[in-house]
This record gives sequence, structure tokens and C-alpha cells, in this order.
Amino acid sequence: MSAHHFDLFVIGGGSGGVRAARMAAQRGLRVALAEVLGTDGLGGTCVNVGCIPKKLYSYAAHYSEAFEEARGFGWRVGETAFDWATLKANRAREISRLNGVYANLLKGSGVTQLDGFARFAGPNEIDFSPSDKSATQRFTAKHILIATGGTPSVPDIEGREHVVVSDAMFDLETFPQRLVIVGGGYIASEFASIFNGLGSKVTQLYRSEQILRGFDDDIRHFAAAEIAKAGVDLRLNTDVQRVERTPQGLRVHTTTGAVIEADTVLYATGRVPLTRGLGVERAGVALGDKGEVRVDAHYRTNVPHILAVGDVTSRVQLTPVALGEAMVVVDQLCGPAPGKAARDMSYDFIPTAVFTQPSIGTVGLTEAQARERFGDVTLFRSEFKALRHTLSGRSERTLMKLVVDTKTDRVVGLHMVGAEAGEIVQGFAVALKAGATKAVFDSTIGIHPTAAEEFVTMREPVR
Ligand code: FAD
Ligand code: NDP
Repeated sequence: MSAHHFDLFVIGGGSGGVRAARMAAQRGLRVALAEVLGTDGLGGTCVNVGCIPKKLYSYAAHYSEAFEEARGFGWRVGETAFDWATLKANRAREISRLNGVYANLLKGSGVTQLDGFARFAGPNEIDFSPSDKSATQRFTAKHILIATGGTPSVPDIEGREHVVVSDAMFDLETFPQRLVIVGGGYIASEFASIFNGLGSKVTQLYRSEQILRGFDDDIRHFAAAEIAKAGVDLRLNTDVQRVERTPQGLRVHTTTGAVIEADTVLYATGRVPLTRGLGVERAGVALGDKGEVRVDAHYRTNVPHILAVGDVTSRVQLTPVALGEAMVVVDQLCGPAPGKAARDMSYDFIPTAVFTQPSIGTVGLTEAQARERFGDVTLFRSEFKALRHTLSGRSERTLMKLVVDTKTDRVVGLHMVGAEAGEIVQGFAVALKAGATKAVFDSTIGIHPTAAEEFVTMREPVR
């Protein structure tokens, strides 16, 4: 009989937590998972207020373009109207279905699902407060996994109480006809495109010279211009001085002296690790400067039987990364799956997409990073109007770019702005990870007519 209630206690039922709990239980460990929001929260940020509802709303936003473009292809489109209440209700139904799928997966794997808040009482002890307000229970576990994710962070501006964060955007009671978005990262840019597509008058304010810091500079400038062309009023080098409530709604005063009237002000200024109330100090777990749970290459905290994965470690805040980290942890605790090697997690060549309109897809190094690492790089760049837009009436353009390490001919960066960038770049990510050279790209036959074929037909380097 083991001295502990569980072999593994997982705190948090998001991307990382559910994956780790499920896989560890399937491999024979006695696993509990606590999720403060209960079954309604299973799947965490990604399922409830992140990737999934965001992508559904992005699909919704694309219809306004599609209706416009259809005319060029001979369709007579009658009067169209968007109903926010229908979109919200359909999204909520789908998310509930997914919560149920996650609950069934956990149950099917034999995980003990605990609806409520978990906090450390000691290095092996968890105090669990059930959501139904019944008495707190004390559990002990051999290993504990912190997978509590992150939460939006809003700077301390005057009128902070009037603004909302992305969590609230999916269920706004009234559709915001006038929306001001502050920030220039993934969330600000995606929501700007989404609400622009749905019919809001969107103003996006970014404090510095160009949005999407960290992406290839070419891509940033090109995407920003296309997003603005699609209708987002993008104001660079502009921050918020204060926000005030007026009888007509909200009024945003900017650092450039502009005054913008809005129904909703969204702050998308980054997310911070969520360790509030977790009591890590009672277990002796050290946090870093950003409040993140610090882990080593094996996701162990300074207390070796306490591990952490996902956004709470503040590394790469993406769902597939949290999933990958969870799988490594499971292999560490249980040994590799039968017939397989132990999984490893590499942070090189993580592909990512920004679901703006047009979208951005990228894998590998930016031009600047490649120059710094390799010195001599060869660039291939193609900018064109996609075939569809020859009849659609839209002037949207596509950009594709390859960054090649000249010495080895290896393609070390691949970037695009254009329709379905995420779908296209996912496949190329395999090639880059496998070490494909430009010669391999050149010898690959394209699929015609597609935009993606451009990646294997670019011949002339940029001077
Ligand atoms: P989370 O998914 O945040 O899960 C943590 C869970 O822990 C939560 O359910 C929380 O309620 C629970 N919890 C916290 N504290 C406790 C406690 N003490 N006791 C019990 N439960 C607790 N990533 C992508 O890859 N693609 C995208 O398109 C994408 N879009 C996004 C859009 C938005 C608007 C946002 C906000 C994020 C998006 N992300 C996207 C990022 C992605 O959602 C996160 O990287 C991912 O969810 C991180 O998973 P996690 O397991 O670390 O944490
Ligand atoms: P990001 O870190 O991507 O962007 C934050 C933005 O806010 C930056 O433009 C930053 O500017 C700006 N900012 C930060 N602090 C302030 C401030 N005090 N005043 C004004 N502006 C400020 O965070 P997000 O919140 O957009 O998203 C969080 C993470 O979630 C992302 O990094 C990503 O990993 C993940 N995500 C992934 C998505 C996807 O895969 N498609 C979609 C959505 C989220 P500056 O650059 O100058 O610092």
C-alpha cells in the first residue's frame, strides 16, 4: 500500500494538465486532477477562452469578406446581417460539448477528477477546496504537477476599471460597434481582425513602432499594412493616457492627444503566470522574476518531485507546447511508452500562426536572428496577388519568405502572410525540422495552382 493518496496530483485542467493526467493514468499511475472551474473549465484557456472560440469567431469574421468577394465570381448575394447572439450561443454549445469530451477522456483513463481549487499545504500535501463549498480535503501525492496556466495582465492606467480582457470578449452582452484594442501582440492583432470582420469599427493602439514584436520584420510591416487595408485603424507609437466613462460609452485619451469614442476597450497587453493562492511557498517551490514557476530541462522545479508545464512556466505560451511538455513529463514519471523512445521537447522550429486577416504563419528564425547566428544568409521573397483575388475584387496581397543559411544551404526560416498561413506552414515545419536544404525545396514539385507552391518555386535570391 502506497503512503500517498495519489502517484500524481495535477493542478489545473487545461491543455498541459489534462494531457499529463490522462496519459499518466493510462500508463498505470493513480492520478487526480483538480480544476477550479469544474467540468465547465476542462480544456482550460485554449478550449474556453482561447484558441477554439477565437478560431470559431475568426471563421465567422471571414464571411463578410466572402460575401463581398462572391459577387466577382458571379454570385448575387442578397442582404446579409450578422447576429451576435447566434454566434455566442453556437460557440457556447460547442465549448460545452468539448468540456464534456475532456471529462469523458479523463474518466475513461481512470483519472480522479476534482472540481475545485487546489493549493499546496506542504511539499507532498494538497489542500483541496471543492467548488460545492463542502469541507476542504487534504490529499498527499508522490508527484505534483503545476499546470495552472496564465491570466491576462492589464497595466495600471487611469480608468482601468472600464476596460476588459480577452476572456470577456467572447460573451460581451452587446456587440461592440466601436472597439478600441490596446496592444500589438497575438491577441490584440487577432481580435482586431476578428471584430473588424464582424463589423465593428476597430482602432488598435500599439505603443511602439510596429506590431508583432518577435516576428520577422518584413512580415510585421507587410501584415500591418494588409490588416490596416482590411479596415483596422492601426495607430502605432500610441498608448493610452486614460479611459473615462461618458453617457455615450467610453472615451479613450491617447498619448498622441487623440480622443476615441468606444463601446468596449480591450486590453491585450500580455499574460502572466497564474500562481495566485497556490501556496507554492508552503512547498518551497521557487518562482522567477515574472512570477513564473521555474523549471529545469526536465520540467522539475527546485523541489524535484514537483513539476510544472505550460503557461505557468512562462516559456512559449502555445497549446501544442504545453501538450509536448506534458508528454515529456509523463515519460519521465512512467518511462517511455512500450516500443517507443522517451519523448524529448525541442524549442527550435516551433511553428506558429497568428489568425489575423490575412493570417501569418511562421517557423524557424527571422532574418535578423539568422543573420546573428549564421552571418551569411540568403533570402528568397515573393509578394503576389493570390489567384482568388484576380476576380474577388480585393487587393489583398500575399508575402512568402525563406531564410537560408548560405554555408549549409539549410532553410532555417519560413514565413508568410496570406490566406490559410497556418495550414500551409504546418507542413513546411516538418521539412525545416528535418533539416531540408534549399536544394530539397527546389527539387520538390509544387501543387498547382496553390499559393503554397510558391515556397518551392522561388529561385532568385533577394539582393
Ligand atoms: P491553461 O489552459 O490556462 O489551463 C490552466 C487551468 O488551470 C485553467 O483551467 C485554470 O482554471 C486552472 N487552475 C488555475 N489555478 C488552479 C488551482 N489553483 N486549482 C485548480 N485549478 C486551477 N495557443 C495556441 O497554440 N494557438 C492559438 O490559437 C491560441 N489562441 C489563444 C487565444 C487567446 C485569446 C488566448 C488567451 C490564448 C491562446 N493560446 C493559443 C494560448 C493557449 O491557450 C495556452 O498556451 C494554453 O492554454 C496553455 O495551457 P496550460 O495548460 O498551460 O494552461
Ligand atoms: P503578447 O505578449 O503576444 O503581446 C502583448 C502586447 O502588449 C505586446 O504588443 C506588448 O508590447 C504590449 N504591451 C505589454 N505591456 C504593455 C503596456 N503596459 N502598455 C501597452 N502595451 C503593452 O501577449 P498577448 O496577450 O497578445 O498573448 C499572450 C500569449 O498567448 C501570446 O504570447 C501567445 O503565446 C499566446 N497566444 C497565441 C495565439 C496563437 O497561437 N495564435 C493567439 C493568442 C495568444 P511590446 O511588444 O512593446 O512589449
